[in-house]
Amino acid sequence: MFLRELTASVDHIRGAGPAVQRALSRGGITSIGGLLCRYPRDWEDRSRIVPLRDYYRFPAVCTVARVLAHDWFGFGRMKTLKVHIEDETGRGVLICFNRPFLEKQLVVGRYYRLWGRFFYKYGEIQSTAFEVEALPEGFAEDHGEGALKPGGFAKQPAPGNGFARILPIYPLSAGLSQGMLRRLIRQALEQYAKPLENELPEEIIRREGLLPKSEALGTIHFPPSMAELEKARKTLIFEELFYLEVMVGKRALERRRGIKNPPGKGKKRAEGEDGFSPLQKRLLERLPFSLTPGQTKAVIEINRDMDGSQEGISAPMARLLQGDVGSGKTLVSFLAALRAVEGGGQAAILAPTELLARQHAENAARLLEPLGIRPAFLTGNIKAAGRKELLKRLAAGEIDLAVGTHALFSRDVAYRNLRLVVVDEQHRFGVTQRSLIMAKGQNPGFSPGSPDLLMMSATPIPRTLALTVFGDLDVSVIRDLPPGRKPVKTHLARESNEGKVYDFVRKELAAGHQAYFVYPLIGLDGAGEDNPNNLKDAVSMTERLGRQVFPEYAAALVHSKLDDEEKRKTMEAFRKGDIRILVTTSVVEVGVDVPNATCMVIEHAERFGLSALHQLRGRVGRGDAQSYCFLIYSDPEAGQGNGRIGVPNPGGQGAGLTDEGKTRLKVMLENSDGFVIAEEDLKLRGPGQIAGIEQSGYLTLGIADPVRDALLLERARNDAFAMLEKDPGLLSPEYLRVAQVLSRASPFSDVAW
Ligand code: ADP
Ligand code: MG
Repeated sequence: MFLRELTASVDHIRGAGPAVQRALSRGGITSIGGLLCRYPRDWEDRSRIVPLRDYYRFPAVCTVARVLAHDWFGFGRMKTLKVHIEDETGRGVLICFNRPFLEKQLVVGRYYRLWGRFFYKYGEIQSTAFEVEALPEGFAEDHGEGALKPGGFAKQPAPGNGFARILPIYPLSAGLSQGMLRRLIRQALEQYAKPLENELPEEIIRREGLLPKSEALGTIHFPPSMAELEKARKTLIFEELFYLEVMVGKRALERRRGIKNPPGKGKKRAEGEDGFSPLQKRLLERLPFSLTPGQTKAVIEINRDMDGSQEGISAPMARLLQGDVGSGKTLVSFLAALRAVEGGGQAAILAPTELLARQHAENAARLLEPLGIRPAFLTGNIKAAGRKELLKRLAAGEIDLAVGTHALFSRDVAYRNLRLVVVDEQHRFGVTQRSLIMAKGQNPGFSPGSPDLLMMSATPIPRTLALTVFGDLDVSVIRDLPPGRKPVKTHLARESNEGKVYDFVRKELAAGHQAYFVYPLIGLDGAGEDNPNNLKDAVSMTERLGRQVFPEYAAALVHSKLDDEEKRKTMEAFRKGDIRILVTTSVVEVGVDVPNATCMVIEHAERFGLSALHQLRGRVGRGDAQSYCFLIYSDPEAGQGNGRIGVPNPGGQGAGLTDEGKTRLKVMLENSDGFVIAEEDLKLRGPGQIAGIEQSGYLTLGIADPVRDALLLERARNDAFAMLEKDPGLLSPEYLRVAQVLSRASPFSDVAW
């Protein structure tokens, strides 16, 4: 039997009455397996002696002590017992609030095991939080001398319940106590642990030096030593990661060779030697540049996937296209769309912001319409009449390419034959949203199965996550930027020096270039929007920059709350160069592409996250000219500190730079590679925040943490994949059963695709 097959109710455990059962179930524990999987969050080492003398160096004293005398203070019902004790190193006092019964239990002259948190008060070393356990009467004669020498506890009679051992500390919820969980789990281990089967293959247990399951389980709860505990943790962590990777690998295999589409849907298209299709070639001929090697390779990989899936050879494409900002992913997605349309299907390109969706739609119209492709733009803001007409044409297959925001998968949107879904800036979407749009590919009359999926991201997925959450996707990486790009020069400036930055930008504007100014707030005019930190906002800065700072150039404002038409007009004017200065918020963070812009000024830069800063900086450096990014940080004088980076800033919130803010700016100054920045981001923020992962449920593993345990993860992955290679269907009944059992457990069941 496997641990997770212990689904019998906790009432089988001796001592678990109805009240206990209720408390457990409120804490989410109903089965015996569930109880045993409630791993401790920490352990308290009561196996090592901490003598009274050392009370201030350790969280708690753990010693053998003799009771010297009793004493009382206070009157009446407030009367409190004071017990004077000593061990071989010193004296102390136990204050027994509300525990007068201890007078009988703590007998003068006898020896006790004592654990307690001591502090110095009223000239004494006192404890109010302590536990004691009596030692046998003859203890002094037999052991008294050596009890406090190293290993002294070992010479004592068998360890007591809470002593001479490492105690588990459990995460608690209402109605549960440490004592209760310890007792129940110990009991459950005694009754059920022995016959538990190993979930890991024997060979792996041996090779990795792990423990058998039942032993690991006993040890994680009640470790005989810290070294054994480490082994048990490693075993359980490895096991979780191993099966996580088994699921990941199995899914990848299934996708690659499982789900067969009905054959004969797509026709083999005439292909040139270079692997591009006729429409793709026609698009490339119309471009003033040629693809970079990275783009070419990505398109070839995508073509191969899509052809395969359309000819029923294999499962649909599920490919992640990674390429730093400005590497030209949009074009690759257009080429993929052409392929889908040539195969008789429709394509959809999903973007996280309306601004970006519109830009894609305009590019699609410009580049693809001349090839006979019928694109359409769909967002939540389209008026009812136009929308109805649009949806009709989508459903009738009169639109080949739909570009838009999440409106693309609203309930009332239907496609005739959606064969390709492109998710741009995929990290901005949650798993549920992605699967919603994928479901649109299932049109019983026409579409045989899931559409091909191309996810694109400039925010690289850190390696550990790539091995877990995205582990079953194929990946194309564009490592090169289009030729002629110069790295963006990044400068830090404090707020009081912003004048110099403005002067610099003025020169760039005079040379015919354009600039972005980005602020953390839209505006302060909205009632109730308070601004305790004196932040600049986009609305008032548009005024100031346009009227006072750069009166000779047109400045305009774009933010998410403007109406659609206004946004569109402003962006178009900026793209054409009629507007030279675009004042905005992080709404331009993703995707916006205006190659003539050479300056990115981010004010209050310390308030932006690393990936936002990287994306914002990526808005410039898109043409041949040298580009610049200015990160302006708030003057700490505004609070209390002084202005230099690297000087502690006691002012906290209001005072500009926090340590983390400082680190982010430094990372931006020193790095331009998105991969490096993403890893730094991961270190600063932890994995849960990154890339929409928080919604995937993957990171709620019981005891493993893919980031912390990255080394084990790699090994577990290798082992898991090797096993799958030998037994691709996981057919041997042994593994099949484990996989089935585990796939019902929460961390593994939330499969994205
Ligand atoms: P991202 O990968 O950040 O989405 P975009 O697709 O927005 O990048 O492309 C950035 C800019 O580079 C666009 O102006 C695009 O037209 C241009 N571009 C794309 N591919 C090439 C290429 N091979 N050579 C030159 N410019 C290119
Ligand atoms: Mg893009």
